[in-house]
Amino acid sequence: MPEQTRNVTFKNVSKAFAGGVTAVDQVSLEIAGGSFVALVGSSGSGKSTLLKTVNRLIEPSTGEVLIGGASVRAGPAHLLRRRIGYVFQNVGLFPHMTAGENVAIGLKLAGERDTAARVSELLALVELPEDFATRIPDALSGGQRQRVGVARALACAPAIMLMDEPFGALDPVTHAGLGKAIRALHDRLGLTTIMVTHDMAEALLLADRVLVMAAGRIAADASPRDLLAGAGGAAADALLAVPREQAERLAELAR
Ligand code: ADP
Ligand code: MG
Repeated sequence: MPEQTRNVTFKNVSKAFAGGVTAVDQVSLEIAGGSFVALVGSSGSGKSTLLKTVNRLIEPSTGEVLIGGASVRAGPAHLLRRRIGYVFQNVGLFPHMTAGENVAIGLKLAGERDTAARVSELLALVELPEDFATRIPDALSGGQRQRVGVARALACAPAIMLMDEPFGALDPVTHAGLGKAIRALHDRLGLTTIMVTHDMAEALLLADRVLVMAAGRIAADASPRDLLAGAGGAAADALLAVPREQAERLAELAR
């Protein structure tokens, strides 16, 4: 697919919730097709709200979101969502369905009957053994469950992946392994990925471009390298302080 058809554009997007909270405040951005962008910020800064305007789980109060130059509102939401993978924080697998059935949901909704081969392929893609297809989510570890969540999001071969704190409740080793796996899938499948995280270190290690959100606005927009060199200003520096100090202390310990 040509790069520009996978561009995601936010044009003056704002979202005010009933009750008066302006969760997203005049965001304008162009996300290049094929890029891996991290959306970082403290809790309540508007990251999830902004992300959900892409697949229309939230409709902006003003402004619009475009994919490949066309408004996301141009067609029915269910067709839009088939082109956009979505991985959410608490994974959200259906507990009474097997991993395979969870992965196949989108395919069934799209009218496919024979999903077994595609499910095997998807499990292989996220590096899970084929026989995990018959397990229920309770019989999987947190990391394995999130791999199933990623496989489900990839089922309809989307061009765009949205991930909302995909590593939320995972231990650090599982977290790092899954992060690398997701970045590798992004590269291999040529996806455009927008990943929400509150973890600046994760954003720096995985993304091509880091957007820092504060109070509904984009407070910084730079590559990991430029952010580390100070290009992000005060909002970014506050988030950079923790991983930077940890890295320095670890380097000292190793001396
Ligand atoms: P983040 O993902 O960065 O933690 P959110 O986008 O979830 O932030 O929320 C941004 C702000 O909007 C917060 O103040 C939150 O309480 C508010 N908010 C989010 N969803 C709703 C909603 N459905 N109704 C009212 N307020 C909401
Ligand atoms: Mg959130």
